Amino acid sequence: EIQEHTIINANESPYNILDFPSVREDFLKGLAELKSYRYPDPFAEDLRKALAEYVQCRPGQILATNGGDETISLILNTFINPGDTVLVHTPTFDIYGIDATVLGARVVHVPDDDGYCRNAEKLQQAIADMQPKVTFVCNPNNPTGSIWPVSVIETLLQTADNIVVVDEAYLEFSGQDSVIPLMETYDNLIVIRTLSKAFGLAGCRVGYGVAQKEVIDALGLTKLVYNLNILSQNAALAAMDYADEILAHNIPPTLAARQHFMDALKDVPNLTVYPSATNFVLVRVPDGPAMVKALHDADICVRSYKAADLKNCLRITITTDDVVRRVVAVMTEEAKKYA
Ligand SMILES: *Cc1c(COP(=O)(O)O)cnc(C)c1O
Repeated sequence: EIQEHTIINANESPYNILDFPSVREDFLKGLAELKSYRYPDPFAEDLRKALAEYVQCRPGQILATNGGDETISLILNTFINPGDTVLVHTPTFDIYGIDATVLGARVVHVPDDDGYCRNAEKLQQAIADMQPKVTFVCNPNNPTGSIWPVSVIETLLQTADNIVVVDEAYLEFSGQDSVIPLMETYDNLIVIRTLSKAFGLAGCRVGYGVAQKEVIDALGLTKLVYNLNILSQNAALAAMDYADEILAHNIPPTLAARQHFMDALKDVPNLTVYPSATNFVLVRVPDGPAMVKALHDADICVRSYKAADLKNCLRITITTDDVVRRVVAVMTEEAKKYA
């Protein structure tokens, strides 16, 4: 039997939505009408409308970008000067700190409590004490999987005089409401979303920022004029045309597989499995490199970390039940060595 490499290190979807007959037909119809000799619409107005409908806001409150990563970069380019403070809870998504450091910002970290429980009071206190130019809240958090209710985010927004970014890259897996409606009350809120995860379009590079129009306009000033190519715009439009169908197809089996993974590992001695509101699960193992190798020998590639606070932790993307069964078998066997 020929086994394909199992790559579960980047929280990618196992589903190709361009294979869904409805989405494919829509995508190909759009493709047939594309004018490749024209530059793209700089603000992707059609896509903006579709995204606005999806998240229930106005098109002017959306900026479509080359992945959510571009939104992160635009936010920092717009609001950060060298020496400014950027606040993050930690551990979280690396890119905030990397982009901020490139711009000469001072990055301040508020560490999680034991068990990767984020401490809202400590973060709120740090916001009050420092009034950082930009505060990042990844919700649900990558790589820990934890999620705060909307009410906690609102407390942070009330405390902050400056920008608070809420990265909702994984929101569709959480079953929780977005914080987007809070932007009507708080003009310092910017929400980041993406089509890379729940919609499985990581290769097309489509993400977006959501905020009040004045903030979106400011972010738009610093972007590349033609940041989103017409092929990606077309794919994203097809995804939005069938958003309900895609989510109904992609999300429930992922959540079921995540439950099977958690259930199978929760009583295995020496493994700590952290709760997750996303399509990945963080697991602490006795010996990270040995577990990575055992999985690698089974042709399974997972994410591991250099940072001290994630020592011996692996982040495992949840895809299908089949893959979950294979991962569980390897991890259970390897963990026995430490009994
Ligand atoms: C994947 C991810 C993003 C955005 O990814 P893009 O592919 O650039 O859209 C943003 N934030 C977090 C926390 C992510 O995990």
